[in-house]
Amino acid sequence: MLFVEDLDVKGKTVFVRVDFNVPLTDKGEIRNDTRIRASLPTINYLLGKSAKLVLASHLGRPKGKIDPKMSLKPVAKRLAELIGRDVIMASDIVGEEVNKLKSGLKEGDVLLLENVRFHAGETTNDPEFSKKLAEGIDYFVNDAFGSSHRALASVVGITNYVKKSAAGYLMKKEIEYLRKALFSPAKPYVAILGGAKVEDKIPVIENLLNKADTILIGGAMAYTFFKAQGFGTGKSLVEPDKIEIAQKILALAKEKKVRFILPLDNVLAASIESGQVAQIVDSFPFPQDLMGVDIGPKTVARYAEIIAKAKTIVWNGPLGVFETPAFAQGTLEIAQAVAASGALSIVGGGDSIAAVEKAGVSQKITHISTGGGASLEFLANETLPGIEALEKK
Ligand code: ADP
Ligand code: MG
Repeated sequence: MLFVEDLDVKGKTVFVRVDFNVPLTDKGEIRNDTRIRASLPTINYLLGKSAKLVLASHLGRPKGKIDPKMSLKPVAKRLAELIGRDVIMASDIVGEEVNKLKSGLKEGDVLLLENVRFHAGETTNDPEFSKKLAEGIDYFVNDAFGSSHRALASVVGITNYVKKSAAGYLMKKEIEYLRKALFSPAKPYVAILGGAKVEDKIPVIENLLNKADTILIGGAMAYTFFKAQGFGTGKSLVEPDKIEIAQKILALAKEKKVRFILPLDNVLAASIESGQVAQIVDSFPFPQDLMGVDIGPKTVARYAEIIAKAKTIVWNGPLGVFETPAFAQGTLEIAQAVAASGALSIVGGGDSIAAVEKAGVSQKITHISTGGGASLEFLANETLPGIEALEKK
């Protein structure tokens, strides 16, 4: 795979797929510009090398139609402030007008295309649309890791119609850390998996069973694993149609001699909305009218002990309903433990990142993966369509 530094970009028109999918307020103002900032190393590098830049991103889900509320115009303004130069905003993504803007670019100019999802061809990876995206383009750079788990025209299709394709800085960093966790982890290797749904995480658990020494389970998915062993879990969130696969995973862990640890005690509540702890229990069955909302103190202590000895940690999914203060303790204490471990730590997933930020320890995490779905898919499949597209040339 080529890296952006491998390209000789002076005077060349370079199409950079970035992730400018920022949260907007009702008034269309940018609420958080982290994603724009994350692309600056690649953008500034290319500008420093006198390339002509064409930037493309999606924003929201306009479903193939123009929706002014999802225009990238506010992003153009913010980006111009951040890079200290003008950003030319295109009114479309492809077509004659856009091609005129592309061919008028001078070295160091920046053109931002409109939301690529305004055209249906983006999500269908349509060859015609991909070809049009590549009109007037010399090189393609992918710096949108978070979009690289889908075969999109601006991620995959376009690579068929340019001279060279390469990874940007953000993309490279994501791939390096996740590959480290997959192919050369220092041991002991601990995976912490939580969150709401087992379903989302099954392929990740299955693959990590081949890699990790210990898997610590928390969150709602723990209750599907308990149910799979015949325990009464009261009103806890359980996915009945995933019980069989949960049983398979438990058997597989035993066979592969991976420690697969479920909570030793659980914080129970009448409901999430109640916002109040009803009981903390270390046995089954749970009372019929209560549900598990967090891991208990014994679990925190046990997990923290294991985390302290780890050399590599991968964490996805909060261990409880951390959005509610009374049910956040387990997740926050585990975040502290991961931060204090000194291990190479990788945290992925929107809610998990929010939890680490809430705990105030994001600075102490080795790598916070920007792509929620993409990092999960990478941990499960060890590659992504967007990465394969960069590797084939
Ligand atoms: P991520 O975004 O990090 O991948 P998920 O989206 O998989 O994480 O899961 C996060 C959600 O799981 C949170 O909204 C949290 O409230 C919920 N959750 C965690 N534990 C429980 C539980 N015991 N019962 C219900 N929901 C839970
Ligand atoms: Mg989530």
